Amino acid sequence: MNGDPIRKIVIVGGGTAGWMAAAAISKIMGNFPRLTITLVESEAIGTVGVGEATIPQIAAFNKLLELDEREFVRETCATYKLGIEFVDWLRPNHSYVHPFGSYGLDMLGIEFHHFWLRARTLGQDIPLDDFSIAVAAGKAGKFFWPRPDQPNSPLSRLSYAFQFDAGRYARYLRKIAETCGVLRVEGKVTQVLQNSENGHVTAVKLEDGQSVEGELFIDCSGFRSLLLGQTLGIGFTDWTKWLPCDRAVAIPCELGGKREPLTRSTARPAGWQWRIPLQHRIGNGHVYSSAHMEPDEATEMLLANLDGTPLAEPNHLRFTAGHRDKAWDRNVVALGLAGGFLEPLESTAIHLVQSGIARLMSLFPTTAFAQKEIDRYNRETASDYADIRDFLLLHYMASERNDSEFWRYCRALDPPDALKEKLEMFRSSGRVIREHNELFTETSWLSVMVGQGIDPQGYHPVAGMLDEEETRRRVSHIRDVIQTTVGQMPTQEEFLAQNGAAI
Ligand code: FAD
Repeated sequence: MNGDPIRKIVIVGGGTAGWMAAAAISKIMGNFPRLTITLVESEAIGTVGVGEATIPQIAAFNKLLELDEREFVRETCATYKLGIEFVDWLRPNHSYVHPFGSYGLDMLGIEFHHFWLRARTLGQDIPLDDFSIAVAAGKAGKFFWPRPDQPNSPLSRLSYAFQFDAGRYARYLRKIAETCGVLRVEGKVTQVLQNSENGHVTAVKLEDGQSVEGELFIDCSGFRSLLLGQTLGIGFTDWTKWLPCDRAVAIPCELGGKREPLTRSTARPAGWQWRIPLQHRIGNGHVYSSAHMEPDEATEMLLANLDGTPLAEPNHLRFTAGHRDKAWDRNVVALGLAGGFLEPLESTAIHLVQSGIARLMSLFPTTAFAQKEIDRYNRETASDYADIRDFLLLHYMASERNDSEFWRYCRALDPPDALKEKLEMFRSSGRVIREHNELFTETSWLSVMVGQGIDPQGYHPVAGMLDEEETRRRVSHIRDVIQTTVGQMPTQEEFLAQNGAAI
């Protein structure tokens, strides 16, 4: 082995990213007697605190931490999430859902949607949404755990994530991390010390004069990117051209209206508005492009579209879509907003922290910091960002909206090559290609392509081999089975009351 084992890890920042890193790394490595993990955070600076919707991959993170789901739901005031409802994205008064899990049931070993496409050509025009148990349950306000042990039940096709209170989540993770031995230091970093020969960070100096030394530094300092950006000078790959939204205004409100297990995204003239129902309140925010709307107008629009009384003052946030040119440089790895941000349309930021931690664990360095491993980390991270960028871009550029400068700009965008190829393949043959194990599944791509009005001209040839009448019969039978199953599921309220609701 080249180099010695790392003995001192310092995490700078105690937002979601910092405490996720602290909890996971201490869970995995906390028992090593000569390793110390220190987290430095400044209460005076605070956190972004708006990351409240997740995707199903969070289950793997919870499993790593050995969390009890009921306790997790109680501690974070979580609700279940079965997908994202997109309202007015294709055109006003239209909506569709990007569901978790997959559509239909098994049919001759190929994806169900090819039979759905064939049935359409036979005059059976049923919306794709009707073939997802997540959509049907989500809209009916129902929830139950998936049943992978019952392959003939639509419940075997269900998958879920959570919507939670970001502040409570960070506190919950902090408790876990501190139990696993993480040392928390309160204070503002005012200076970053570097080795004069190789530029490695050696210590961070706090306002009170205290110095925290380390060998591996994890920069979780948020948009400031204190170590990677400010100290090591790593540049930023700016994707504003493709994702022009660069501002958000967030405000929680009282519970009002329904509390479906769905995040809602409603298109607005210069962006979109999120609605995330939690156990005790609703999280809301308006993401918009500052080139197309002023902050006052964005705030007014948000306030005019809340379900209940606001519970706080509007929180204004600025960001740029993109990522640091390198997520890892020398002995500094950035996680969370310090490494990049792609707007919250598909709730991917917390997942990117999680995948960054997993990647760091698999390429964990010695004090020699082998460049090959660092290069691989950076390559894979950049590829994750590009895949997500393309998926987000699809929502905007495939819209039919023509009612504002913002939407006209989005519709005129020329997509990157990988997205172009995906769209061409889907249009001609109904095939959905999932590249190199990318984050979003075939179901995700399919739901958004169909939801955004992309109409395929063909379907898998095997779907054409089934008798016409049998195709129609099986397709409508699957829809009926889904409806019947949803009818038997408890409401989310009933389910939460039995399984961990805090309130
Ligand atoms: P922060 O929360 O900003 O934390 C930074 C930490 O660094 C803080 O503890 C701060 O005190 C500390 N710090 C900074 N400077 C210093 C210093 N000099 N000295 C000491 N400490 C310092 N993600 C999702 O997955 N789902 C969503 O629905 C979602 N919605 C979002 C909506 C918006 C508008 C935005 C902007 C983000 C959203 N995110 C979402 C992203 C999510 O909020 C972040 O990924 C997540 O909170 C991680 O943030 P962070 O920990 O990197 O940064």
